Amino acid sequence: MTTSGKGAAPHVLGPTPASQRVTIDLEDAGDTPILREYRAVKAQFADALVLARLGDFFELFGSDAAVAAAVLGVTLTSRNFGNAGRLPMCGVPCHAASQHIRRLLDAGHRVALWDQVGDAADGRIVRREVTRVLSPGTVTDSALLEATVVRRCVALLAAEGRVGIAALDASVGQLQLLDVAGEITTPAILEELVRLDVGELIVPDDCSLPDDFMPATARTHLPAAVFDRSRSDDRLMRATGSGTVRALGIDDVPIARRAAGAVIAYCERARIQLPSEFLRVQVRATGDAMRLDAQTRRNLELLTPLSEQRRLSLYTLLNRTCTPMGGRLLRKMLQEPLNDVGAIDRRATAVAALLERSDSRWVLSTALQRVGDLERLAGRAVQGTVTPREMAAIRDSCTALDEISGAVVDIDTPAIRDVVPMLQPADALVRALERTLVDNPPADPRDAGSIRAGVDTELDSLLAAASDARRFIADLERRERERTGIRALRVGYNRVFGYYLEVANSQRDKVPADYVRKQTLVGGERFITSDLKEQEAIVLHTRERMLAREVELLERLRVKVAEQSAALIAAAEAVAMCDVLQGLATVADELRWVRPLVDESDVIDIDDGRHPLVEHALGPGRFVPNDCRLDAAERIVVLTGPNMAGKSTYLRQVALIVLLAQMGSFVPARRARIGVCDRIFTRIGAQDDLSAGMSTFMIEMAETAAILRQATPRSFIVLDEIGRGTSTYDGLSIAQAIIEHIHDAPHLNVRTLFATHYHELTSLAESLTRVRNARVEVEEEGDRVTFLHRIVPGGADRSYGIHVAKLAGIPVSVLLRARRILDELERTRPLTSSDREAAISQLSLDIPPPKHPVLSELEELQVDVLSPLAALNKLAELRERVTT
Ligand code: ATP
Repeated sequence: MTTSGKGAAPHVLGPTPASQRVTIDLEDAGDTPILREYRAVKAQFADALVLARLGDFFELFGSDAAVAAAVLGVTLTSRNFGNAGRLPMCGVPCHAASQHIRRLLDAGHRVALWDQVGDAADGRIVRREVTRVLSPGTVTDSALLEATVVRRCVALLAAEGRVGIAALDASVGQLQLLDVAGEITTPAILEELVRLDVGELIVPDDCSLPDDFMPATARTHLPAAVFDRSRSDDRLMRATGSGTVRALGIDDVPIARRAAGAVIAYCERARIQLPSEFLRVQVRATGDAMRLDAQTRRNLELLTPLSEQRRLSLYTLLNRTCTPMGGRLLRKMLQEPLNDVGAIDRRATAVAALLERSDSRWVLSTALQRVGDLERLAGRAVQGTVTPREMAAIRDSCTALDEISGAVVDIDTPAIRDVVPMLQPADALVRALERTLVDNPPADPRDAGSIRAGVDTELDSLLAAASDARRFIADLERRERERTGIRALRVGYNRVFGYYLEVANSQRDKVPADYVRKQTLVGGERFITSDLKEQEAIVLHTRERMLAREVELLERLRVKVAEQSAALIAAAEAVAMCDVLQGLATVADELRWVRPLVDESDVIDIDDGRHPLVEHALGPGRFVPNDCRLDAAERIVVLTGPNMAGKSTYLRQVALIVLLAQMGSFVPARRARIGVCDRIFTRIGAQDDLSAGMSTFMIEMAETAAILRQATPRSFIVLDEIGRGTSTYDGLSIAQAIIEHIHDAPHLNVRTLFATHYHELTSLAESLTRVRNARVEVEEEGDRVTFLHRIVPGGADRSYGIHVAKLAGIPVSVLLRARRILDELERTRPLTSSDREAAISQLSLDIPPPKHPVLSELEELQVDVLSPLAALNKLAELRERVTT
């Protein structure tokens, strides 16, 4: 066993000498005491990476070291343990442990901290214990979890043709339940899981998940019995303190209800506290949110910009919130826009009211800035991991609640009226926190000094005794100098000997007889006296007792906070709503956005719409606004125009305006009317740059196929350059067939923007009544082409690809040659509509319609070997299969 940091292995860069055997297996790696203990810990926490504290480092050994070194990018070295060989190891300094642990969790690993408890003073042996087991879906520490990010621990159970999802956000005690029809790998379920920000998954033993299923998540397989209905019900009742499951209102999600039992069992095993006043079981309503698939989130840059040059995501642009809860709620709103007109209107009305009242908004945001992460702090109090400083943050946050409530109380709109009653500081708790805690308590609970003087008589008398002893020691230097005549005598302290008196060699002859020599240095000697040790014992002893007493008082305070966690979390939710609404009003104010009309109509009607991110990137006055009209008569707009003219920007801009409108925000436009959309689908090509050749086309087709399957007449589809990943004829014919399908299929007829550089497609407007053409205007002056970025009615008749090539810096000789080839092609092989017909018929010839299985069976039937009775039976069976 190591006694101090000196025992820690050096962090050597470079390879291990070839002569020394490196073994990855803990069992084969010699047998030192530390390794024996490490093995025992590892056996107990086999599914976690064990981080062992050795002095100032956290170290990992064996295969854990290999895994961690790869994730963290630190050097994998090795260390000798006994004679058996060397063991791979890597380490991270303790002061930077949080950031490394966070990366391990983000990569889906569990982490067990085998930490030192107590210190190594007086040659005592360091004791180590597993103080924390952290997992990606249950972590609640502020240092390990980004303030605006949520990580959930999710149990999945497939049964009876449905998948039950139980998703726990352990930081705030929210357990959401949801049943979805389908298999575990059904796209709707994957979409739901992405929306739930899964940090780790729990599934039954017999459930095998594909390897690439939610890759960066930890997975735990629990025995199928844990998902058993009656066991789950028992657990749910115990955890919620409810006498019956019926009272929880979760009868409609019978499979998720079983999964919920597994989540609770998992938390029990991981010692995560879920007291009944903290745990909130809710059925997750999906019908009231617009569904957005992964590619649409990406294409619309909701949370992450598409490229580094773009810098801003929609979230960053919109985020004027002042609190972490506000930031998280905004993220959720962006990911789950509403589709209920009433609910959208409530939010937008509050934003409008706050927009008008800039004075209230200012008071509100000033008060909000004083609120910490009340929601998670309350959760940490419940978990028992809250620090004294965090309790002070709860106190300070609560004292700001009155001010927040005062700032919004006369903003008389339903959305705000609903939350004001929750903005109640828990008065008795706040008083207790104010009375007990000093203004700025330490962050580490092991440091003394959190409790105010006068709060506790025991602590006060300990404090007095300690300061008397400290005063004695402080005076000692002066007194001893006078007594001994040693002018340079000095009182010092170190961790090994405690307090000492130091005398330089030149004065050693004046040292009195009662001095006991403790240490010889190059220039002098260190002594102790019985008086000094007596006072030191008082200091150390009282310090220990004071610390213990403080811990006791802090624990009492923590329990009080935990008891109020429900009220604190409700207040935090109210704060989050006020914060998001003021943030949206501020954005609307600063960026001159307008309130859209959102109704049940089936139109999208926008005057002078703008793309908020491109507009921001271009700077004031440089973005060209554009209109958009889609209604019952004009369902599909075919948008043509040269590359780089602004087609993708326009498509994204309309989708973003719809999304913003449905989240209750104002929108970047002069006027907008949005008939509520149940889904926005986007297929926009930018991300294809990463994929190559055929796979680009496959992705394009697969995504388009998914859109065509899932869209409803209430959806909004944005398709950019469909068909560009294959040859002209193929691409053109597929693009045309898709437009026709969207136009004609009775279950579709859906609002669609279709951008293409196939200007031949503009002729579709002649045959399809609800198709309209639009083009991006271009100004030509001789050889000069200027993109005006203005969308006007009508179709483009050329694509200006060579012009864009020139802009991109292709050599002039190549451009001239290309121009000649183009002229020649246009003269000799113009692409006519009959070409397209031919291409489409070729397409249909290549792909025979799927044959009915009965036909295939008939073909293979060996009639001549069948008896008349068998033939009759077969005939009856086949008829049955055709008719059912
Ligand atoms: P490609 O077909 O090559 O993908 P595109 O027609 O889709 O091109 P975009 O990518 O939308 O073109 O736009 C190209 C650039 O033009 C944008 O990055 C932006 O700088 C500018 N742009 C687009 N729309 C506008 C606009 N309305 N006002 C001002 N600038 C714009």
